Amino acid sequence: MSASTIAIVGAGQAGATAAAELRRQGYTGRVVLIGDEPHAPYERPPLSKDVLLQPDTARCAIHADDFYQQQSIELRLGVPVVGLDPHARTLALQDGTTIVFDKLLLATGARVRRLPMLDALGDGIHTLRTLDDARRLHAVLKPGRRVLLVGAGVIGLELASSAVDLGAEATVIEQAPRAMMRCSPPMLSEHLCDVHRARGVSLHLGVPIVSAAREGDEIVLTLQDGTRCAGDAVIYGIGVEPETTLARMAGLDIDNGIVVDAQCRTSHPDIYAAGDAACRRAPNGRAVREETWENANRQAVTAARAMLALDPESEPESADAPWFWTDQCGLNIQFAGDMAAPEWLARGSLAAPPCVLFGLDGDGAVVGAITVNQGRDMRSAKALIGKRARIAREVLVDATRNLRDLAREAA
Ligand code: FAD
Ligand code: NAP
Repeated sequence: MSASTIAIVGAGQAGATAAAELRRQGYTGRVVLIGDEPHAPYERPPLSKDVLLQPDTARCAIHADDFYQQQSIELRLGVPVVGLDPHARTLALQDGTTIVFDKLLLATGARVRRLPMLDALGDGIHTLRTLDDARRLHAVLKPGRRVLLVGAGVIGLELASSAVDLGAEATVIEQAPRAMMRCSPPMLSEHLCDVHRARGVSLHLGVPIVSAAREGDEIVLTLQDGTRCAGDAVIYGIGVEPETTLARMAGLDIDNGIVVDAQCRTSHPDIYAAGDAACRRAPNGRAVREETWENANRQAVTAARAMLALDPESEPESADAPWFWTDQCGLNIQFAGDMAAPEWLARGSLAAPPCVLFGLDGDGAVVGAITVNQGRDMRSAKALIGKRARIAREVLVDATRNLRDLAREAA
């Protein structure tokens, strides 16, 4: 394939990782990485954390500045791809350029779910997805400013933590009955709310916003129970939607994301997708879309290898449980496996971390784990999940037992 062109749309986590993997695997053809943002590919996890807290020193570039040139990766930045013709194998860029490709990776990520009721207020309403958003927010989160955070998902809680660190007053509003409901069991959600409240954050759970208005210099959000929350600015994080515009244009299969197989191939044999935009069809037929840093990297590597027709059998082991982390209120919390497990046990105390939580399924098998300031136990926890280990509950929660030994000995 040395004379061929591989084009990658989306110069984010998955796009930059796939480009690097193509070169790492010895591909010598043309690699074109196209992104609509003006910045070289960067990581998003620091945007809600270090980029807000230490804007002058925070680093988020995925590769060194000279990497793309050294690797002969053509980086086209600040130019959206506006057209995809799967039959002619062409991409149309907004600047009028056409790129002919042999293989294509769609790594277009996700876009913020909009809340028109808030957007209608204009100035003072913010969301967080990009580096430019984070730089704008740094100017918003000032000492004494009252910030209304709508959505108590990972973005809402990480921003509440950063806001307090920066001296702002934070109020969190969530329509669901508990925080981080999609990705955390109740015992952790409740504990995190207690930690935020102890830092002065005001939390309103289980109450949708019924109206939003500007009153003088203030923005006032009225909740269904009649509560009025007033602030100087609003930042909302109510989830994301996969960016599938080009895939739709090309007639690819879509089901809550661009549908891909285990090799990240879409319904077109030479078009692949990876990251937040891609949705994998699980063996049980369910469509699974993961919005995590690890998944973007893992799928990028899988797609790059598949585009080079490398034997999937020789791929590194990737059957690990899904994994992600959050940093808030001085806690590093890592999650693996099924967060909807019906039973959770604590090894140690959440009130006095380090601590590990284990999620068990109806048969008592370990299917999920959460480490709180105890990341070094994550590898063993993942091994227990991988084996669906059944260990006596009193042994699992006994912090004097070595977790690595338990993982090694588990059947
Ligand atoms: P992205 O990184 O979003 O990249 C997609 C790129 O494609 C974007 O630059 C987009 O503008 C571009 N694009 C889209 N359409 C076009 C087009 N037509 N033409 C050109 N370019 C296009 N995950 C964790 O596991 N842990 C964390 O702590 C964590 N923290 C996060 C904090 C924040 C604030 C955010 C926003 C996300 C966080 N995530 C975290 C999630 C993680 O960053 C994403 O899952 C990951 O970035 C997905 O990578 P991606 O390449 O699929 O998409
Ligand atoms: P999220 O985790 O999906 O959480 C959004 C929350 O907002 C949900 O609890 C949702 O409740 C709630 N919500 C929806 N509509 C609402 C409304 N009208 N009013 C009030 N609350 C509402 O999404 P996010 O926090 O916005 O994060 C966006 C993306 O960034 C995700 O891809 C996420 O993975 C990523 N991210 C990840 C991390 C991390 O992993 N550490 C950190 C930051 C961001 P319902 O469930 O009821 O809809």
